[in-house]
Amino acid sequence: MSVIQDRKLVEISIDELRIPSEKVAHVQLNNPLEHALLVLVKSGYSAVPVLDASYKFVGVIGKTVILNQILGLENFEIEKLSEMKVKEVMDRNTPTLTRENTLLDGLNAVIDHTFICLIDDEGFFDGILTRRAILKEIKKNIYINSYKK
Ligand code: AMP
Repeated sequence: MSVIQDRKLVEISIDELRIPSEKVAHVQLNNPLEHALLVLVKSGYSAVPVLDASYKFVGVIGKTVILNQILGLENFEIEKLSEMKVKEVMDRNTPTLTRENTLLDGLNAVIDHTFICLIDDEGFFDGILTRRAILKEIKKNIYINSYKK
C-alpha cells in the first residue's frame, strides 16, 4: 500500500521510507582506505556513510574518491590503500535530514544525491533515505490516483 495516497507530501515523515541504521553498510573514520574499498566493492554500493567510534555521523565515502586518491601519474599506487585512512579523503559536506523531516524535504534532497543520511538530534546515525525509495513511493501514488479516475 502507498504511504502517500491522499496525504500531502509535507504530511508524511521520512521515517516511513527509512532504511534503519542496522541494515546500512558503513565504515569508520580510522579505517584504512583498503577496508572502505572492500566494503564498497563487496556491497556493490557507490558510497557509504562514515561514522565515528561512537556511531555519530561524519560524512560519506565513495569508490571514485578512493580511486582518485590512489591514482598516480601512470599507475595506481596500491600501497596508499593501507597507508591512508577514510578520514583523510571522505566528504564531510553531505546534507543530512532527520526522520521527522517530511517526504517533500527528502524529495528535494535526493535531487542531487542518490541517498541521504539521517541523524538524530544528538548527531547519531539513524539510517538512510534513498532516491529509489522516494521514487517508488511517488510512482505507486501516481498509479493509485490514475486508477481512481
Ligand atoms: P539504491 O537506491 O538502492 O540503488 O541505493 C543508492 C545508494 O544508496 C547506493 O549506491 C548506496 O550508496 C546507498 N545505499 C543504499 N542502501 C544501502 C545500504 N543498505 N547500506 C549502505 N548504503 C546503501
